[in-house]
Amino acid sequence: MQQGIGMTSQRTRARLIQRLEEAGIHNLDVLAVMRRLPRHLFVDEALASRAYEESALPIGHGQTISQPYTVARMTEALLAPGSPDTVLEIGTGSGFQTAVLASLVRRVYSVERVADLLERARHAMRRLELRNVRLRHGDGALGWPEYAPFGAIMVTAAPAGIPRVLVDQLTMGGCMVLPIGHSERQVLVRVLRTETGYVHEILEPVTFVPLLGGVA
Ligand code: SAH
Repeated sequence: MQQGIGMTSQRTRARLIQRLEEAGIHNLDVLAVMRRLPRHLFVDEALASRAYEESALPIGHGQTISQPYTVARMTEALLAPGSPDTVLEIGTGSGFQTAVLASLVRRVYSVERVADLLERARHAMRRLELRNVRLRHGDGALGWPEYAPFGAIMVTAAPAGIPRVLVDQLTMGGCMVLPIGHSERQVLVRVLRTETGYVHEILEPVTFVPLLGGVA
């Protein structure tokens, strides 16, 4: 059975990468990591056979693992302005995006408000022997001041607007990629921190779960 999934995923993974390229993902490092990482380890066993489809899947607690295109697109957008040394991620969820980032930068810090999701993500990191990840149970809206500033920040749940607290935890010239807005009207935004504050550009429409307050 394990073998079966492994075999299928080789072929389906190759197809996934082809679809990502066709959808406009160009960064070869991002594509290589998307091909290599076992996405099925980040979803419930019952959904493992669907792990390489282009869809978001439920991970419990009303949350979803982002679809592969979204993960690839956000990672590409995050890395484009420079090569960040450290990345802060808000919304660990399944930990798949965390693992993608950990394969591409020196160190990743990730904050998740749902304790159970965080524990499962921690388990996946161990299984993949990703040792450059630091996970924290907490409210990501506050960032992670103890380790700030970060070369880049990725937010995988949508706040209503650009959170100033997070911008302030970026290095000068650092960038943040995040979805902004309410349910059906969200856009993916890239924010660059500047000497005088920040500038932002709108990348494309997206759909994310909302950034919630407090912990669970
Ligand atoms: N990148 C993840 C996305 C998971 S969905 C993946 O692909 O699996 C978004 C996640 O953000 C959820 O796990 C949700 O619990 C978390 N979240 C929402 N608001 C948060 C907050 N204020 N602080 C930390 N995590 C938050």
